[in-house]
Amino acid sequence: MPPLTLLHSSPLGPLETEAIVLRTMRYGEADRIMHLYTPHRGRVSAIAKGVRRARSRFGGRLEPYFRLQLDLHEGRGELLTVTGAHTLNGHARLRSDARALDCAARACDAVGRLFETSEPHPGVFNLLSRKLLLLNEEPACATQAATLAFRLKLLLAAGLTPQLAACANCGAREHLAGFSGAGGGVVCNACEANSFPLSEEAYEFMVQSLGRPLLEGPDADLKALSQVERAISETLEHHAHIRLMPSVARSRSTAGAL
Ligand SMILES: [Zn+2]
Repeated sequence: MPPLTLLHSSPLGPLETEAIVLRTMRYGEADRIMHLYTPHRGRVSAIAKGVRRARSRFGGRLEPYFRLQLDLHEGRGELLTVTGAHTLNGHARLRSDARALDCAARACDAVGRLFETSEPHPGVFNLLSRKLLLLNEEPACATQAATLAFRLKLLLAAGLTPQLAACANCGAREHLAGFSGAGGGVVCNACEANSFPLSEEAYEFMVQSLGRPLLEGPDADLKALSQVERAISETLEHHAHIRLMPSVARSRSTAGAL
């Protein structure tokens, strides 16, 4: 039997795949266009025809944060067509909690921006599946710390992990006091030009986020978290030209923390 990836990557015709709905947009009278994240085809876009009609055979399944088993048809264009959908997990509980819903939106947005091509990253699909499952089972996990830990894991999967073990400029292993997005990681006292101060707590948060499962992610105070967010943002801007949404809604971040 050919490897699974080959079965899933025939260029034209039917395509069966698991997918997470990252976002949806209304299209025309009754259709919806969906951005999907799949294990073996990366991010794809698909159109669901007639889905907004009251008696659509798709029911309410083609909504953000659903994990689905989809039948798609691939034509010559970039847009696939949804021909069948089966719910694997609708994450119903997550939908009744505003913070969990907000974190799910930020997680899906980050995956869509960092992994916007059809290059397969099954690990990223699994990571996002686990993240949504966690938010659904334990809405209290919807914290800024958890959002940032998830983003650090995405950086790792994207090959953009900042250098944390030694100064990114000179290799020194001591007096690591700053972070430089352009430099690609932590920097020492002697190399701190163009860096910003990174506290011990922020540093530990980054190291632990990368080393621990999502469920056991670390916590840190607001000041450290804002430094971590800046480290992630500057890394992405310098090395991938990507900007993510803030890790929390503006109204929720505490003024003095930034
Ligand atoms: Zn240095």
